[in-house]
Amino acid sequence: MFKPTAVVTGGAGFLGSHLCDKLLSEGINVICIDNLITGNTANIAHLVGRDDFKFYKQDVTEYIYLAGKVDYILHFASPASPIDYLQLPIQTLKVGSLGTHKALGLAKEKKARFLLASTSEVYGDPAINPQNEDYWGNVNPIGPRGVYDEAKRFAEALTMAYHRYHGIETRIVRIFNTYGPRMRLNDGRALPAFVDQALRGENLTVFGDGSQTRSFCFVSDLVDGIFKLLMSDETEPVNIGNPSEITIKQFAEEVLKIMGSKSKIEYKELPEDDPKVRRPDITKAKNILNWEPKVEREEGLIKTIEYFKSINHIS
Ligand code: UDP
Repeated sequence: MFKPTAVVTGGAGFLGSHLCDKLLSEGINVICIDNLITGNTANIAHLVGRDDFKFYKQDVTEYIYLAGKVDYILHFASPASPIDYLQLPIQTLKVGSLGTHKALGLAKEKKARFLLASTSEVYGDPAINPQNEDYWGNVNPIGPRGVYDEAKRFAEALTMAYHRYHGIETRIVRIFNTYGPRMRLNDGRALPAFVDQALRGENLTVFGDGSQTRSFCFVSDLVDGIFKLLMSDETEPVNIGNPSEITIKQFAEEVLKIMGSKSKIEYKELPEDDPKVRRPDITKAKNILNWEPKVEREEGLIKTIEYFKSINHIS
């Protein structure tokens, strides 16, 4: 029986590894490529040894050679948390530009369908809320977040150019804040930072006055949406995220309540260009993909906190 093959760049990362699981569960062979600068083989340890799964340690900014047929390429390689891309600014720019070029080149060579992991960061510090796909964004190209935002904006432009000029089948998902098992406890993002602090009995550090908003999507919902997009024929960008919007202060309070923690909230300086609001308009995903998130935040938070506790060595 014919079994398609998918390549997942960044497949040992948080989202990439969940995507590998999803593709395998749909009967697709998976080739996972990762240079492990922010990914971790622990995320794919349960897949090693299967004959429908291969892992190659490689930096996708270098030429990618693969023998055999490839049907899908999902380009997820990139540092993705603000702390990571502040520490890895050049790698972030390179994987979004050169890495996307190499992954698209592979798609052209293999006549494969290409899916780009883009981001709500293409909207920058948005002047409209919620953000729909027609909004062009408000990005500071030279600010600290610009290395990620502009790399992803360039990646979208390159993807559309390969689609229009080379006729490659392409898909672009704009991913909003996502959480779940396999996030790194030390990746600097709000949820792992809060859980880590609560586990240590330290104060939770809320940046600014905590009135900035985010909308958090549980990883299983996100991966379902991405798979539906991959199988659809939509070439223009589609937002995938959970529209349930919350302030970061409320979010910290929710984490404390679920954990039964007595930690307090401490306010720290707001990082430069930190978006004030963020919420996906998912009308397009609902209409085109018949997709919407199912996991309530409390349920998702309980699962994620359990995971963090299981990998944490502080008692
Ligand atoms: N944040 C915070 N305390 C932390 C980490 C993050 O208050 O220890 C804030 C951050 O300033 C932002 C929000 O939480 O307003 C979400 O940050 P995150 O790094 O998770 O992702 P972003 O959505 O900014 O890319």
